[in-house]
Amino acid sequence: MTTTTIEADARLFTTPAARTAYAELIGEMREIAVLRSTLSLLAWDQEAKMPRGGVEHRAGQIGMLAKMVHQRSTARELGEKLAVCEGDGGLAADPHSVAATNVREARRRYDRQTKLPTELVQEMTLTASKAKAEWKEARKAADFSRFAPWLAKVTELNRRQAECFGFPADGEPWDALADGFEPGCTAREVEGVFKPLRDRLVALLDRVMGRPGPSDAFHRLELPIDKQREFVRFVVARYGFDFDRGRLDESTHPFCSGIHVDDVRMTTRFRIDNFADALSSTCHESGHGIYNQGLPREHWGTPAGSPISLGIHESQSRMWENQVGRSAAFWRWAHPELKRHFGAPVAAFSEADVYGACNRVEPSFIRVEADELTYNLHIMVRFEIERALIRGDLDSNDVPVAWNTKYREYLGVEVPDDAQGCLQDIHWSQGAMGYFPTYTLGNLYAAQLFDTARAELGDVDAQFAVGNFAPLKAWLNEKVHAPGMRYRAAELCEKVTGAPLSADPLLTYLEGKLAPLYRL
Ligand SMILES: [Zn+2]
Repeated sequence: MTTTTIEADARLFTTPAARTAYAELIGEMREIAVLRSTLSLLAWDQEAKMPRGGVEHRAGQIGMLAKMVHQRSTARELGEKLAVCEGDGGLAADPHSVAATNVREARRRYDRQTKLPTELVQEMTLTASKAKAEWKEARKAADFSRFAPWLAKVTELNRRQAECFGFPADGEPWDALADGFEPGCTAREVEGVFKPLRDRLVALLDRVMGRPGPSDAFHRLELPIDKQREFVRFVVARYGFDFDRGRLDESTHPFCSGIHVDDVRMTTRFRIDNFADALSSTCHESGHGIYNQGLPREHWGTPAGSPISLGIHESQSRMWENQVGRSAAFWRWAHPELKRHFGAPVAAFSEADVYGACNRVEPSFIRVEADELTYNLHIMVRFEIERALIRGDLDSNDVPVAWNTKYREYLGVEVPDDAQGCLQDIHWSQGAMGYFPTYTLGNLYAAQLFDTARAELGDVDAQFAVGNFAPLKAWLNEKVHAPGMRYRAAELCEKVTGAPLSADPLLTYLEGKLAPLYRL
């Protein structure tokens, strides 16, 4: 960011003192962001490239840098500069301006970092590392009772954190936790969208399960990994992921790290007999990657140049994975490409076979393997349980019964044991509560944003059918990526789509896709 840009952004301030404090605040935030991006690079390297022997030294590098980041992000001087900026009434003239965004979000981050007493942070770190170790053992033994006391402790610490952060009188502690992942998100709002979604998804699943569905034979095909690698790169390059400003590597769990708008690292994974996973994971991560590459470069390192929330980030990955990569129009284009890349092994599979296999619905116990329809039901189970835990309405010992009952009710499956049930996810063991709903919020935002894109871009199906994804990418760049954090997720949704977040677009999308596939 140049000095002139900062000066232009600071013009709303009424006093020179506030303008100076703002320029210093931005300078400090950018330096902290450089440190943070170095941490991301080290973390990426650890997952994608580092030799196993490097673990200990890497932990030292990360620990030291993280300490520097923490010290600088919580420094009293930073708080003082923020107070000077806030004390100047000028920003009220335009709450969505760059300067107002930067000050507002800097305050949110600063408060979240400084409101927790050091002892509580240390206790959480220590508890989380022990809880994670116990969770691993408990999962191996498929015995939740070993993890139950740790979940109770994690819940208690989360509750104490929420009290420190604070929440409005009409809110609840869960809101304060979710705010760290999805600023402004409340349990009541989530419930308001999730409940109708749950009821209609359960009903849709009931109808689907009574019908013969498409075959998944295509997914069981064995395809050479070098060809898979070539194909997924080909697809995401066509999506618009810029390989001159990003990389695709491999790791056990796919992820995307936005080190800078000009250096985005994503990973995927390959198995000879699971091409579908490689393709959907890469399409998914490329959605995160395209978002990271589309953030405004001139505001890098400040909130105005940062992603809004995990929910909006996930909307981007889900849209490229599902609304695009699982569409009939996509396969109209991709099916001949599949033949061109893989040759004889795929020859027996028609366009309809591949499209059908990619959209098969199959309720299971495992979230990460779930299809588009049932995925959200997995999330609702977790949201309802963690909210009840935090509220004190559910004892941690009773989690397996609550879990299994909900799986029976929503997904119609009997959970065979705790390892395949309430011990399957790592999140709670790491201390993260309030995170899960961002996955479903992502699906909801994706569907609603895509409806608007469809209405504004003309015939997107015709565009996809010839491998033209540029109009959609340009639309997302402009509407979703360029604003950075100027709007909260809910505000952006309303501004772009003209309506508050609703379950309807996702349900209409799923019903519209599954009705012909399952002859409903
Ligand atoms: Zn994602």
